[in-house]
Amino acid sequence: MSREQDDMLRRGIGMTSQRTRERLIQRLYEEGISNAKVLEVIRRTPRHLFVDEALAHRAYEDTALPIGNNQTISQPYMVARMSELLLEAGPLDKVMEIGTGSGYQTAVLSQLVERVFSVERIKVLQDRAKERLVELNLRNVVFRWGDGWEGWPALAPYNGIIVTAVATDVPQALLDQLAPGGRLVIPVGSGEVQQLMLIIREEQGFSRRVLGAVRFVPLLNGPLA
Ligand code: SAH
Repeated sequence: MSREQDDMLRRGIGMTSQRTRERLIQRLYEEGISNAKVLEVIRRTPRHLFVDEALAHRAYEDTALPIGNNQTISQPYMVARMSELLLEAGPLDKVMEIGTGSGYQTAVLSQLVERVFSVERIKVLQDRAKERLVELNLRNVVFRWGDGWEGWPALAPYNGIIVTAVATDVPQALLDQLAPGGRLVIPVGSGEVQQLMLIIREEQGFSRRVLGAVRFVPLLNGPLA
């Protein structure tokens, strides 16, 4: 292949991917994502770097994709929706994420809030996610290998907590680690019956909003090497 052909091919791929990225943003907007900052961050975050090369061509489809270890990278709509819900009442300083997975949601969050504290139970996924964030020069994230049911008490409280796996019940530890006014976005349920919930720590007790049916992999127990 000549140098020009090679260049053309590469530009072609670049253009296609730019177009598919724009199409994804348009679709998220049409589906009701209205936070311009969230849309902008998703536009500029290279999701194809968070999946296997063999799946990179599908990275800008609005769908969850396998990332190994029986886990999936979240659907872009869900990443956008959950981020938007977290930020609904204004900017956030400290946010804890449970379920780092590929690190895609982590990367999006890190561009929207001051600091992200991300907990993952599967060591190999966490290691790969860490590398990707360093590569993208996203440095305001710290990682913990541990059980998300317990949160990360040593660094609590958090202004926001986001859980990217479905819990059978809302973990008490996460409620305990919410700052006053803090917001927890979490899918609750099991199997086919799952609801996205927004829980806010009020002056007295907690308020809860049910936001509709969702589909996530389960929040499991204990760390895994
Ligand atoms: N937001 C991630 C989604 C990953 S899927 C992404 O976009 O890639 C859910 C993740 O939650 C998986 O990586 C899974 O290993 C993790 N997980 C499940 N149970 C957990 C637990 N108890 N503590 C921490 N992480 C957990």
